[in-house]
Parts: sequence; C-alpha cells; structure tokens
Amino acid sequence: MTVDLLLLKGVKPLGTRDEGDHIKIVAEASVSPSERCFECGHQPLYKHGKRTYQYADIAMHGKPVKVEIERQRYRCKACGKIETPPIESLDDKRIATRRLIRHIESKCFSNTFTALADETGLAVNTIKSIVLDFMARLDETYVRETPRIMGVDEVKICGSYCAVITNLEMRTTFDILQKRTKDVITPYFRNLKDKDKVEWIALDMWGPYKDVLSRELPHARMVIDRYHVVEKASKALDSLRIKIQSELEKDGRINMKKHLRWGLLRRNEKRTPEDDEKLEYIRAHHPELAKAYDLAEAFHNLYELDDRIEAEEAFEEWVRSIPPEYAESFGQVARMVNKHHQNIFNYFDLKITNAFTEASNGLMKLANRMGRGYSFEITRGRYLYSKIASQTGQVITHEGTPKSITDPVTVWGNAKVTDYGRYISEFDGDDD
Ligand SMILES: [Zn+2]
Repeated sequence: MTVDLLLLKGVKPLGTRDEGDHIKIVAEASVSPSERCFECGHQPLYKHGKRTYQYADIAMHGKPVKVEIERQRYRCKACGKIETPPIESLDDKRIATRRLIRHIESKCFSNTFTALADETGLAVNTIKSIVLDFMARLDETYVRETPRIMGVDEVKICGSYCAVITNLEMRTTFDILQKRTKDVITPYFRNLKDKDKVEWIALDMWGPYKDVLSRELPHARMVIDRYHVVEKASKALDSLRIKIQSELEKDGRINMKKHLRWGLLRRNEKRTPEDDEKLEYIRAHHPELAKAYDLAEAFHNLYELDDRIEAEEAFEEWVRSIPPEYAESFGQVARMVNKHHQNIFNYFDLKITNAFTEASNGLMKLANRMGRGYSFEITRGRYLYSKIASQTGQVITHEGTPKSITDPVTVWGNAKVTDYGRYISEFDGDDD
C-alpha cells in the first residue's frame, strides 16, 4: 500500500521527481467519467482525446510544486461542447490547486507578490489576479456597520485623490473609493446599505460631496470640518504676509527674519518661544501684518466657543472688525462662511471633525509603501481587510446573561460581532 502524501481529493499520485528548480508530482485523475453534458444534459458523451496540465501546488522542500495530470476530455454530440470533468481540489481557471489559492489569499497581506511568485512558481500577474478576485469576494461578503456619524474626506493613493469614508464615532475607516468625483460617489451613496442610519456627516468644502450627500442622504445633517474652515483664514494671512514682504526694500526683507511664515501660522501647543519672538518683532516693525495676524487668530478662536448662537454672533462681530484694507483678503473668508453658514455652524450642535482621517492617511501611506506600484484595488484591500484591520474595529457583544466571575457555571449567550472597519489609532498618523 502506498502512502498518499499529496492529499488532493480526486487526484491519485503516481510518482515524484526533483526537477531542480521545482518538484514534479505525476498523478492521475480519480474522478468518475462524465455521463451527461454539463451544457445541455445530453448523453452519452464521447471521448475527445487527453490533455496534460501542470497544476501549481503549495511549495515542498523549499521548492515550487507542479502536479502533472493527464485529463480525459469529452465532446457532446448534441451541442458540440468539449469538456473536462471538474476535480474539486483543482482550479482550472488558474491551473493551480484550490489549497494553493487559499494559501496565496492568506499571505497576500504580509508578503509581496514577487515573493509569492517566487515561492509558488506562478507568474506575478497570476498572483495579482488571484488577489484581485479575493478582494472582490471580500467586498461582497464583508459586512461593516454603516456609521451613525460619518466622515467624508480624501486621501491620496497611487498619486490621485480618493474619497475616504470614516466612522467618526468608532474611529474606523468605513470605505475608500477610487475617486471623489460625482460619477463615483453618487452611485455609492445611492446604494449605501442602511443609509437611513447616517445622522451626521463631517465633510470638507469639496463641492461634489455636498451636492451628492444632500441629495442621497437628505436626512443627515452636515458639518463642514473646522480645519478646512480656519485654513482659509490662515491662507488669507499668509498671502498678506507675502504681499507685505515683497513690497519691502531689500534691507527690510532681510530684517523680516527667516521662517516668518511658521512663526505666524503655528498655533497653540505647537508654538515655540521663537515663534513668539518673531511675533513681537512683527508687532514692533510691521503693525499692519500684526493686525492681520490678530484677525486670523480671532477667527480661529471662534471655534473655542461652546454655543452656536454665541458663535454666530461672534462671527458677525468679527466681520465688522475687518478693516477696509483687508476687505479683499479676510472679506473673502467672511463670504465663504456666509455661503456655507448652516453647515459651518452645525459644528456647534455636534462638535465632530475629520482630523483623524489624517491618521488614516498615514496608514494608507504604509499600505502604499508595502505594495509600491500596486493598483488602487490592492492597496485599498490591503488596508481594509488585513487581519489586524478586521479585528481591531470589531465590537463583540453577547446575548443573555453575562458570564459571572463568581459563578463559573453561567455562560454567555451567542456572541454577536459587529464590524466597523479598520480602526485608526492616534499614533498611526505619525508614521511617514
Ligand atoms: Zn451538450
């Protein structure tokens, strides 16, 4: 009696050869011949010659393995179709064993495709196709809870802007779309599962987001992300600084110390004593720029207020304080706020922000680096579906009586795992 170490259902090994760069296992199919046509059900079928295939299998002794099988082909007289009876352990599309495909799927998050190609003897493109199929299957089967508080922002993957959708309450990444254009986001939000669950959305001022979301999720309230709002005031200040600096005589320009930009723009805990020194210099020598600085600061401080009405009144007051010479620059900021008034001041009803998407950006860079040169689908799948990703965003709840520490006999009810997607820790964003 021979020992079958191949353990492939429907395949009987006959012999093994070391071919130097790979191991060859010669085998025969041990499936019963087809009796009727798969296509039309007609019988009988006629033998139509044999063909030999080399199925890639899991590596053995550190070498790729090929299982060589001669397979009988049949022809149907009724419909003319030529067929080979399938063997359940073999994948005829990839010419590989199904267990090898499962192996590649389990390794695709941690290994490069080149390494997997070297290990298995398959072409890099075949590995890529297997992984793409796998990612598409994950997309179909992987169920994430639709966020109650959603963030819509963008990240750069493979050099272009992609829409990133986050769960701000659970701090997880919900999804990533290849583009943030109307033709991509409209069908996405139209077909979003449980979209009635979304109560709040934090977004930036990218026009298509607002248009599409107000149409597709009309019941959700929108909040324009505060960082995108205050950024406009910082930009106004910075362009005034550039203008004032360029109008100075050469000596003045030199005196207007280096790195002035950051001295004016760095805020709060990020400010250094050096920044304050620069500001003192500005106050003494360029009061017109100091005035612009104070205006920008006052605008930033609107966000420190707790109450919506108070914030709206403070904004009106800020608008009245803009001196005529800054009607152009800061006036533009005021007009922007008026244009988006409702969604900007919604912030004071629910203080949500997309700031943590920045952390998700850091993670994305990591995913990008892991698979440099890989397509969007693969980078996205690696990010969303890697083992760590799918476990850390899960919340496990139990039905019935909780297990008691004092009474070891009580048991949990059925565990229910709710998945919110890729969790983003505060530290992830620091990686670059
Ligand atoms: Zn047929």
